[in-house]
Amino acid sequence: MLKVIIDFDGTLTAEEEQADLLRDAMLTSLSTEIIRAPKAQLEADYRATRARLQQNPDRYWWEVNGLIASYGDEGAFILNTTTIQTMLKENESYLRAVAAAYPQPEYDSVIDCTNHLFHRHTAVLPLTFRPAAKSVLASLIAHPQRTPIILTNSLGDKVERHLAFLGLDKRLDVLGDTRQYEMDPDCPCYFPTLGKPQIWSITKNYKIDLRRPDYYRALVESAADGSQLVVVADTFSLPGAMPLMMGIPFYLTRAVYTPDWSLQAVAEHPLGTVLNDLADLPAALEHLPVT
Ligand SMILES: [Mg+2]
Repeated sequence: MLKVIIDFDGTLTAEEEQADLLRDAMLTSLSTEIIRAPKAQLEADYRATRARLQQNPDRYWWEVNGLIASYGDEGAFILNTTTIQTMLKENESYLRAVAAAYPQPEYDSVIDCTNHLFHRHTAVLPLTFRPAAKSVLASLIAHPQRTPIILTNSLGDKVERHLAFLGLDKRLDVLGDTRQYEMDPDCPCYFPTLGKPQIWSITKNYKIDLRRPDYYRALVESAADGSQLVVVADTFSLPGAMPLMMGIPFYLTRAVYTPDWSLQAVAEHPLGTVLNDLADLPAALEHLPVT
């Protein structure tokens, strides 16, 4: 069996259409519940921070346990997350308010705050699927040797609820809360080609850290029944680099926000393929790169 593990946000959905609504909802929550500052002030801070981030995209990232989980320029949601995290960390009074609202964080108060607001608001935001989402999933379901599995860092119930709107014949398996952003300096996964630390240098300024124990484990467990895997996603650091290092083919679906450096990294890897449209996936799977 070929398990086709497909990322949800941005790959099956038009994430770029939701990003403004998500930003607005998150800033409203910060303004009214957490920081209690005027929303106009937070919006101005957000715009200034995002402009700075976009001018120097390789210098801003989502950091977890001291390691880089994703660069801020890789997608519409990650740009929003990184902007809000940066804005909260750089302002003392914001940071104090967030620490008070999340006194016993799982990661740190800023990450917990952005994770919580992301999960809460994306669960209810209006969502548009990409035009090919339904037909691609239907063709994978109909194929006797292929099984689609939905991959997400979001909570599985949100994704299952949204998928129901597609009206597919079959309920899809969801690999939810995979925590591709869970970084651990002592990750048990080890790739000999990378040396120590386990960092894949893409360019002088972009380096992907592979110390992601939760995501590594999720992929190992998916293959434990002897199935072959491929992964399909719209971003690189979080869902894409790990499968390539594990010898699993990875398909990067190009979106309006996909940065050139990540397209190039995937195109240059023997197991990497760039898809200009999700609709091209079923045909691309007919010619799997040799693993
Ligand atoms: Mg995505």
